[in-house]
Amino acid sequence: MTKHAVYPNLFSPLDLGFTSIKNRVLMGSMHTGLEEADNGFPRLAEYFAERARGGVGMMITGGISPNMEGGYGAKLSTPEEAEDHRLVTTAVHAVDPDIKICMQILHAGPLAGTPACVAPSAIPSRIARMVPNELDDAGVQKQIDDHVQCTKMAQLAGYDGVEIIGSAGYLLSTFLVEKTNQRDDQWGGSYENRMRFPLEIMRRCRAEVGENFILIFRIAAMDMLQGGMSWDEVVLLAKEMEQAGATIISTHFTWHEATVPTIATMVPRAAFAGVTGRLRKELKIPVITSNRINMPDVAEQVLVDGHADLVSMARPMLADAELVNKAFEGREDEINTCIACNQACLDHTFGGKSVSCLVNPRAAHETLLNYHPTGTPKKIAVIGAGPAGMSYATVAAERGHSVTLFDAASEIGGQFNLAKQVPGKEEFYETLRYYKRMLEIYNVELCLNTMVSAEHLKQRDFDHVVVATGITPRTPDIEGINHPSVVSYIDVIRGNCEVGNRVAVMGAGGIGFDVSELIMHSGVSGALDRDVFAKEWGIDFENHPRGGVTGVVPQVAKADRQVYLLQRKSSPVGRGLGKTTGWTHRISLAQRGVKMLNGLEYHKIDDQGLHISTDGMPSVLEVDTVIVCAGQLPKRGLFDQITAMGMDASLIGGAFEASELDAKSAINQASYLAAAI
Ligand code: FAD
Ligand code: NAP
Ligand code: SF4
Repeated sequence: MTKHAVYPNLFSPLDLGFTSIKNRVLMGSMHTGLEEADNGFPRLAEYFAERARGGVGMMITGGISPNMEGGYGAKLSTPEEAEDHRLVTTAVHAVDPDIKICMQILHAGPLAGTPACVAPSAIPSRIARMVPNELDDAGVQKQIDDHVQCTKMAQLAGYDGVEIIGSAGYLLSTFLVEKTNQRDDQWGGSYENRMRFPLEIMRRCRAEVGENFILIFRIAAMDMLQGGMSWDEVVLLAKEMEQAGATIISTHFTWHEATVPTIATMVPRAAFAGVTGRLRKELKIPVITSNRINMPDVAEQVLVDGHADLVSMARPMLADAELVNKAFEGREDEINTCIACNQACLDHTFGGKSVSCLVNPRAAHETLLNYHPTGTPKKIAVIGAGPAGMSYATVAAERGHSVTLFDAASEIGGQFNLAKQVPGKEEFYETLRYYKRMLEIYNVELCLNTMVSAEHLKQRDFDHVVVATGITPRTPDIEGINHPSVVSYIDVIRGNCEVGNRVAVMGAGGIGFDVSELIMHSGVSGALDRDVFAKEWGIDFENHPRGGVTGVVPQVAKADRQVYLLQRKSSPVGRGLGKTTGWTHRISLAQRGVKMLNGLEYHKIDDQGLHISTDGMPSVLEVDTVIVCAGQLPKRGLFDQITAMGMDASLIGGAFEASELDAKSAINQASYLAAAI
């Protein structure tokens, strides 16, 4: 077989002895919410089939519980339940029988969040709502039996294998760690005893399914817990798993309760692959690495470096189901790259909503949102090339409409051109690259440096006008708001104004946080440099103390400034940020010394500074710059004018609704409307 010219490693098969995987790309497990939804399995089948058509070598489903007490979503323990899963396996194997699909068995243990949840000891997780029920010996045996039964049912359902999760703070991992396992029977005490439960599951599952079934064990290779697993314990467990019948070891890098970001956009690409590489040297069976590997060149480099045998790209497959084919065909510039925002995937999972993707609203909605060719092509003008306008223009043009996209600026992107400049948000450049290419491919006429007016549109003969003119920043009605010390976030990010050493950031929404990060930052962005990232978050990749973090003190390079981040609401500052990433921003700013104040009233701004009161107590923040980040208002004047003139128009993105608006809702709304015109 000839080697691929650019990605010779990525596109080489992996021989597992009894079977092989056709390339080295794996879609890691992600819960979509469809597993429990009414009639979710037909949608799930199409979701996986689309990714199979996209060329991936192996896929792992979202976590399925082996029993009720493991309760983190759907359960599989009966032949009737296996029938649902057969829809998925049949759909995938119909695309290509060589593509492997494995089911993840996820017993949430203390994180199940129900009164029935179980654990080795009655110790609640820091992030759980319930104190788990301590298992007695018979209870432990039952959990093992249930894992075996679940594996058997997965085999019956036509899966090529299962992945058993032994990390993240779920049941198996809580047996491994002393702080969650304080038993003194054969399942606790010494490390040998603490390993017994996961090992017994692996041995019994292997005995049940025979040799020709893939069994993957997901191990916390660096659990990010103070006092977590030592490197020797990780290696010993992996070796024992190999002996117990595991086909592949998959490395994972966190417990959910850890306070180190491991997949957010501020994490450098492939930051953890080296840890997998160290484990790989200790084993004979293949290993999988993961976390922030979002482009094919990064994946290829991981393999070249000998860090892994398979590369897991989970969220990148939500962002672009065709990623693997595009890499194979040399169309990398067409890849819709995952920006690791978590906004439509993990934030939805943990918010109880069905999963999608900020940059690809079709993800997990394959049967609901499709871009079919139009039978009635129209001449469409789209005004504003921000996320809303770009996505409307590309979808409409893909469907065969003739689209002209206007923007007053000299480049496409709208506010994404501000976002991309925030340290830790460098991935936003990829989205702009993607849209630029899509506009070329679908022959969208692009008119930059063009401030569109109603008159302008009257002179052109468009069938439909889409107004995506975005927002104008809100100017709060406060005495002294025109004082020379007051500047807008736009001017700060663009570098159009001086920022002093004592700064008040008025407004603690996403933009207030981003601006505070930007002005407190010093040196290289941690997202671009693994050593800087490791220092900032207190990770020791070299010596691997317990959990990778025990005893390591974070060291942050910061600008020489005092920054106050302010809000009027009395809720904790940053509460409105993303569920799975908000805490990383709060920690990051706190480490940089930003003072976050809530529940205050603004009175006036003058030469002395910003006059505020808290609980009726007046004070003055003696600052030399006040940066206004007080939300946004829709910019819809053009829409009002042209509809008054009788033009057929629609309004999208920030111009439609500025409060609660983010790029996720802008792209989502635009895509659905463009799919329907
Ligand atoms: P915009 O992006 O505002 O685009 C409007 C475009 O219209 C502009 O390019 C403008 O030049 C053009 N325009 C306006 N009037 C005219 C006219 N008359 N003629 C021609 N062109 C015109 N969202 C997230 O979801 N996640 C994030 O992490 C995130 N981070 C952000 C960080 C920062 C610093 C900022 C500022 C925003 C961030 N956002 C984020 C918000 C997100 O960028 C916006 O929600 C999104 O850009 C709104 O898209 P839009 O297309 O409606 O408007
Ligand atoms: P926002 O999230 O609505 O925050 C606006 C802030 O301004 C709030 O803290 C609000 O708090 C304050 N405010 C509102 N009216 C005010 C007034 N009249 N005077 C003084 N303060 C006022 O908006 P944003 O930060 O401008 O962000 C815009 C959009 O971009 C949002 O949808 C956001 O989700 C998105 N975004 C997302 C991210 C991300 O990381 N996901 C990052 C950046 C932006 P108080 O009223 O309590 O003072
Ligand atoms: Fe990636 Fe964001 Fe899409 Fe999730 S929502 S897959 S993190 S781009």
